[in-house]
Amino acid sequence: MTTYQTVNPATGEKGREFPTLNEAEVADVLTRSQSGYEAWRHTTLEERAEMLATTAALYEKRADELARIISTEMGKPITEALAEVEISTAIFQWYAVNGIGLLDEESLDVAGADESVVHKRPIGPLLGVMPWNFPYYQVARFAAPNLMLGNTILLKHASSCPQSASVIEEIFQQAGLPRDAYINIFASTDQVADIIADSRVQGVSLTGSEKAGASVAETAGRNLKKVVLELGGSDPFIVLDSDDMAATVSSATKGRLSNTGQACNGAKRFIVLADVYDDFVAKLVASFEAITPGDPLDAETVLGPLSSQTALDDLLKQVDTAVTDGATVLTGGKKIDGPGAFIEPTLLTDVTPDMAAYSEELFGPVAVVYKVASADEAVTLANSSAFGLSGSVWSADLERARDIADQLDVGMAFVNEHGTTLPGLPFGGVKRSGFGRELGSWGMDEFVNKKLVRVS
Ligand code: NAP
Repeated sequence: MTTYQTVNPATGEKGREFPTLNEAEVADVLTRSQSGYEAWRHTTLEERAEMLATTAALYEKRADELARIISTEMGKPITEALAEVEISTAIFQWYAVNGIGLLDEESLDVAGADESVVHKRPIGPLLGVMPWNFPYYQVARFAAPNLMLGNTILLKHASSCPQSASVIEEIFQQAGLPRDAYINIFASTDQVADIIADSRVQGVSLTGSEKAGASVAETAGRNLKKVVLELGGSDPFIVLDSDDMAATVSSATKGRLSNTGQACNGAKRFIVLADVYDDFVAKLVASFEAITPGDPLDAETVLGPLSSQTALDDLLKQVDTAVTDGATVLTGGKKIDGPGAFIEPTLLTDVTPDMAAYSEELFGPVAVVYKVASADEAVTLANSSAFGLSGSVWSADLERARDIADQLDVGMAFVNEHGTTLPGLPFGGVKRSGFGRELGSWGMDEFVNKKLVRVS
């Protein structure tokens, strides 16, 4: 039974509980989403762009309030929460500015007819299933391009962040979006399956775990619905050399610990060449040990609690299993005494392919460090993961780093940066990290009817 409720992970304090939909309400939102589509698809591109620009302005205006909601709901340090509101604002603004141009028709120079033109048209109501780790940003990535296209949205957010889910819907309505064009639904897993199966829903986008992705994709496949999946990752951070190890380690720390380590594209595996290994590890341990988790609402806090007590229990179990299996703890590894789902920033080494910690995603401030003898070995190790979201290569030699980045089996490869996301850059992975892309022009290319009109 799904319960939509805020539980502050820094204190354990429970907030308001929100009831899940009943059967009649599920039927009603489906009808509304379809009738909303019939109206929204006929609005002009300019009207849609204006609505997105107003949405962006409202996010900017309400930034402090929005940031506080997610800090309280899922423990994100407030400065990072404000940064999340800022990137979400930028996404709405980006599609407001660029969306119309991305929907230009394309004339094809193909013989045999007077005209062959491809138009980009909406396909209908979509379902979004979103996670708690970036409550606003994940929704913005999905909603902005699809509302610009003329699709309508039913949004099932994570059950742990009902307040952020509600305020997203409220802002769209404040921005002038018709209320049936974006409907927040507090739905159970079974209801999600029913909604996917409904003939009016044309596609589903899920950001979350492999398990949820597989379940949603299975239902979608059975019902012949298009799916986008943004799933987990175990991103490699490959250090070949460094002419400024302090800066490399600072980026490594941020790459692993931001969002309290709960980012799909966090730097989860540090793969370091033997020449620089000792220096890197000594500095990384010192950097992790300099950080104490604290109150997410305090502007000085850089590391908050995990999103829930369950998330903490699961992560501690993964660390304990790794240690039992032979891993060495370089630093951290323990729960922090007192209330709240706090864990010490943790570094593991001596992890081998037979251990669960080698292949599982560690969703929190826990990283594994590997020493390798060559760049080729680094690539082999990096690509041995079943995930393929992103990866980064660090070196003063850009040619060498570019070559290694090119060999990574990932959706996003970076040189001398990790995990950058911007509205104009594509976001998505390969292998078990999912399929499809969000953001930029690619985000408008998923749930679109590229409709040929040929006139002879
Ligand atoms: P999760 O448990 O999969 O939840 C994500 C969403 O899916 C929630 O709304 C959840 O609802 C729903 N859900 C869960 N099981 C479902 C099912 N069987 N059918 C339909 N919906 C279902 O994931 P999480 O633990 O919240 O998020 C962490 C995961 O997301 C990590 O693996 C992370 O790497 C990944 N992630 C990926 C990206 C990316 O862009 N690639 C970005 C962020 C996070 P309830 O809350 O009601 O269970």
